Amino acid sequence: MKRVGIIGSGVAGVTLLKALVDQTLAKNSSKRNKLNLEIVLIERGRNFFDTFAESPSSNPVVVIHNPVTSRAEYQYFCNEGIKTMSSWIASLEEKFKTKVAHKTGLLHLPKNIHEQKKWQDIFDKNSFYQQNIVGKSVLNKYLKKNTNSDVGIWDPNGFWLSPRKFLLLCLRDVTRVFNKGAKILMGTEVRKIKVLEKGVLLTVRTSDSDSEVFFDKVIIATGSKTEELFNRNSLYLGKKDYSGKTLKLFTNSGQLSRFTIPEEYRRFFPDFIFCKGGYVTPLIKGAIYSGSSYDKIKNEDSFLIDKNNKYNYARMCDIYDKFNTNIDVSYYRSERCTSSDKLPVVGKIGNRLESNLYIFSALASRGFSYSPLLAEILAGEIISEIFDPSVKYEAASNRFNQLVNPFRPV
Ligand SMILES: Cc1cc2nc3c(=O)[nH]c(=O)nc-3n(C[C@H](O)[C@H](O)[C@H](O)COP(=O)(O)OP(=O)(O)OC[C@H]3O[C@@H](n4cnc5c(N)ncnc54)[C@H](O)[C@@H]3O)c2cc1C
Repeated sequence: MKRVGIIGSGVAGVTLLKALVDQTLAKNSSKRNKLNLEIVLIERGRNFFDTFAESPSSNPVVVIHNPVTSRAEYQYFCNEGIKTMSSWIASLEEKFKTKVAHKTGLLHLPKNIHEQKKWQDIFDKNSFYQQNIVGKSVLNKYLKKNTNSDVGIWDPNGFWLSPRKFLLLCLRDVTRVFNKGAKILMGTEVRKIKVLEKGVLLTVRTSDSDSEVFFDKVIIATGSKTEELFNRNSLYLGKKDYSGKTLKLFTNSGQLSRFTIPEEYRRFFPDFIFCKGGYVTPLIKGAIYSGSSYDKIKNEDSFLIDKNNKYNYARMCDIYDKFNTNIDVSYYRSERCTSSDKLPVVGKIGNRLESNLYIFSALASRGFSYSPLLAEILAGEIISEIFDPSVKYEAASNRFNQLVNPFRPV
């Protein structure tokens, strides 16, 4: 039997767990000698409520849509990621007879005149956007007022979902089909990571006591805590002729605001998602979510929180601004982890080709767009290394593998 440990139960860890299980089952269905795999998801939050209170993967809402970007490869990557995410959602909806994605469509406007100019240039160069471009008259019709923008995007496939529901359904799916092979250790913090000749030894802390656990392979999916874990364990991405390349990630605090909309104003809000340097959801149980504003530093100062709520409120007022009563506001703050080129960092790390340590991090502001796609790619690499070690895995030829490779110059 082989044991795989995944550190972190955010969208990276949970989607990887599901992809590993799905691929193991697919392989086993066609083999006489079944693969024997145990996968352990290790989460320091004491329970899901504890975890949900902090991590960005459990915000009350996430929005999925294509970015307007001059980086054609990034645009393609996001689009393929959204396709994979959509197919996962469709399968979960079918299995559990429930609704996960709210496919409202999304209206995307440039932040300002400077961004509008950039967008026009992007539209000229990338035909992907052509079918979704809308002009001023359509924008005015959608928003029922005169807008400053001359151009925008109507993305009919834009949708929102509850990330908590998505993650819990992924976990239910895993336990339904793989009950003995998957374990979830809550309230367990990984303190030390020791890479051995064969395998990885983790020192974990549960209820104030430390113990050691051995795994054949370990994946670090710890979001904004990844760099701290690397530094504490003096881990490097590895040499691979880049002599001791270190991991450089950036952390921002993001804030999402929830505005309770009194009954008399609800009819002024559209039933689609509005996006302008951040998003405004349609009404969800009597409230509108607007976000996200970001701070470069981690700071829970009430002045800063208030400033961000005002900023998010102003975005909502792009839709309706004639309230004559105070709107009740609450907020959610969490950390976002990014690499310098804003692309995820995913793959094997360490100095040796046969290293058993992997990273799945830096999902930035679109983790829910591309986590299932990346999980499928990484799971393919891990499963093939465990069960077909003699066959050289062709991951390097995968277009996205190059894009998110930890050894790229970031
Ligand atoms: C305000 C805000 C709004 C956002 N909106 C969107 C959106 O609309 N659409 C979208 O696609 N994305 C959005 N994102 C981005 C998205 O939320 C992230 O990309 C994604 O959640 C990152 O997931 P992750 O699994 O990498 O990390 P995390 O969600 O941070 O999960 C990491 C987990 O690892 C655990 N952990 C850490 N260290 C240890 C340890 N040593 N031992 C055990 N466990 C550990 C943590 O407790 C945590 O549960 C938003 C982000 C923010 C901050």
